[in-house]
Amino acid sequence: MSKYNIDENGYYGRFGGAYVPEILQKNVSELKANYLKIMQDPTFKSELDQLLHDYVGRPTPLYYAKRLSNLYGAHIYLKREDLCHTGAHKLNNALGQLLLAKRMGKTRIVAETGAGQHGVGTATVCALMNMECVVYMGATDVKRQYLNVQRMRMLGAKVVPVETGNGTLKDATNEAIRDWCCNPANTHYIIGSVVGPDPYPDMVARFQSVISDEIRKQLKAQCGRETPDYLMACVGGGSNAAGTFYHCLDNENVQLIAAEAAGEGIDHPDRSAATIHLGREGVLHGSRSLVMMDEDGQITEAFSISAGLDYPGVGPMHAHLAQTGRSKVYAITDDEALQAALTLTKAEGIIPAIESAHALAVLPKCKFKKDDVVVLTVSGRGDKDMNTYADYFKL
Ligand SMILES: *Cc1c(COP(=O)(O)O)cnc(C)c1O
Repeated sequence: MSKYNIDENGYYGRFGGAYVPEILQKNVSELKANYLKIMQDPTFKSELDQLLHDYVGRPTPLYYAKRLSNLYGAHIYLKREDLCHTGAHKLNNALGQLLLAKRMGKTRIVAETGAGQHGVGTATVCALMNMECVVYMGATDVKRQYLNVQRMRMLGAKVVPVETGNGTLKDATNEAIRDWCCNPANTHYIIGSVVGPDPYPDMVARFQSVISDEIRKQLKAQCGRETPDYLMACVGGGSNAAGTFYHCLDNENVQLIAAEAAGEGIDHPDRSAATIHLGREGVLHGSRSLVMMDEDGQITEAFSISAGLDYPGVGPMHAHLAQTGRSKVYAITDDEALQAALTLTKAEGIIPAIESAHALAVLPKCKFKKDDVVVLTVSGRGDKDMNTYADYFKL
């Protein structure tokens, strides 16, 4: 029995479950009844593995970052999800879910997206498999991540800008769920993170666990041990972190470190997206977790420079890891993340996604011993963030 992974009722401790409108109950229970069976089917596994290898470009490298290691006084390895096809870890999950949806006889895909990486990942696999694709994206995000909007359109997806709320990920997710409610028979909703009703958090974590599976093998080959002292990743909904932590959840010798987006700081709750620091228990988008809300329980608008972390909820796994003390969670401000992105770029010649830069910004805050082995997941590349970087650094 795992203390930290999902239980048989679909909960991580107090968090998780499936809180969905009646119209979706059939879809969710059908998915729950089938996802493990399909994922464990040898023909499914071999099709997925082959595409992960030849199409996504896996395994992604585990790179020993020598200059970064010197800078912070530990052995720092970077798990290079930025080198996945389309530029982030998102494709691992989008591909898996698309193959699964096909097995379940679905003919139409909807997705939500924040920074656009999940939308691009979903549009990509829909092009690959000739599937109809509709992506909901907040109007604010459409503006700040326009390159990804153009990519999705070229890939054949219909991108629907969402004007409600502050036009970010929460609002896009609401609309995607609304669409799914109207088309439950033929449509599969590809959620982009370890959020949503059971079984989504577990299903997405399993599709992303390829990251930690590779880390084990690569670390063993490169430094003779299967597990590091620290695993570090940024957390929006928490899928790249879940994938990074997966095989070490119950190995308490490994310190799990998560970085959430503090925006302008946790002392400015209305200018922050640090859900684990600022949230209270509640239900958002189908599961019980920590949620940012006002005194009346209304969901508040999250704020972060990073469109991929700008979300007032967090996956139930991460709420549980944080509440039990299994993970240590840092709240990283916009400025700290931007500086960390520049530090990595100058030290290693790698421009990270602004989301990933939140994880990098934790490095100077840790007290490492010089023999410590640290694996940090670079969840994506920085191309989509060049406008933000150029404005901030006056490039
Ligand atoms: C979407 C995204 C994230 C945040 O999502 P998680 O589910 O928390 O991983 C982080 N980094 C990049 C590059 C992303 O595209």
